[in-house]
Amino acid sequence: MTIKKFEPRIADVGGIPIARLLPNRGKKPIGAWCFLDHAGPAEFGEDESGMQVGRHPHTNLQTFSWMIEGEVLHKDSLGNEQVISKNQVNVMTAGTGLNQGISHTEQSVFPDTGGSADAARGISMVQLWIALPTDQQIERNFHHYPELPMWSEDNVDMILTTGSYTSVTGKHYEAPTIQYSKLIGIDVNFTQDGDVTLNLEPDFEYGILVLEGEIESEGNVCEQNQLFRFHDTDVASNSRIKLIAKKGTRLMFIGGEPLNNQVLLWWNFVADNKQELEQSIIDWNNGHERFGEVDSDMKRLPAPELPEGFKG
Ligand code: MN
Repeated sequence: MTIKKFEPRIADVGGIPIARLLPNRGKKPIGAWCFLDHAGPAEFGEDESGMQVGRHPHTNLQTFSWMIEGEVLHKDSLGNEQVISKNQVNVMTAGTGLNQGISHTEQSVFPDTGGSADAARGISMVQLWIALPTDQQIERNFHHYPELPMWSEDNVDMILTTGSYTSVTGKHYEAPTIQYSKLIGIDVNFTQDGDVTLNLEPDFEYGILVLEGEIESEGNVCEQNQLFRFHDTDVASNSRIKLIAKKGTRLMFIGGEPLNNQVLLWWNFVADNKQELEQSIIDWNNGHERFGEVDSDMKRLPAPELPEGFKG
């Protein structure tokens, strides 16, 4: 198995530091996972408002939020208002094509601003985008998943955030999470020093984002906020990957079947061609009804123009 390691780009989203792992060198998605940010971990003072991301649109993608610590209020143009807290998933689907699109806001909430009584004054959240297969007609939607399959293997806790998975001991798990192409996402948390072996699907591409600590696999070391990317080049001999880590290490294991279409990204838009990105910029900046309205006073973020010679 060939394992490649990628470094994060450090940026700021809504006032907090993030490590961006996708898109990365080569800009190739992992299956349909085309964007990967780890927000935080960050602690907020009593007078700080945390993450505040104003009104912005999405196209041809799903936003997939996985909460490790803290709470975030999501509001969207379909009228959904949902607080996400730890060990929960939110998935918002923008729909496909120029007749679809969605907009939303995301903001940290605390016990005094709409969060639960034990909401942390901090954040650690993984936000991913899943590119939609553009040969399917997909309608916009939003889903919140407070309950997901959880299990332990030796001293490693696992949560299946999306997809289906059969463990090396033969137990089968299914997440309820909506999908339009085959994907998997497992949160893996080492409660003691040890190792875990994960089963791989032959047609999937895979990645591992280390959220805390570091892992070792086949002599490669991946540290916090680095990304491993690998795929099974030899199905007969490599249908599993073994990860070794110390107590307290936590990671997100993602994978999926590659899409048949091209995946271009610009700002908050995904499309399979440049013209559609250009049209989405025009539509958002002119208040087109395809993006709806979010019931929020938060500022509306304008879409930047495509740079000269944009090739995706
Ligand atoms: Mn968004």
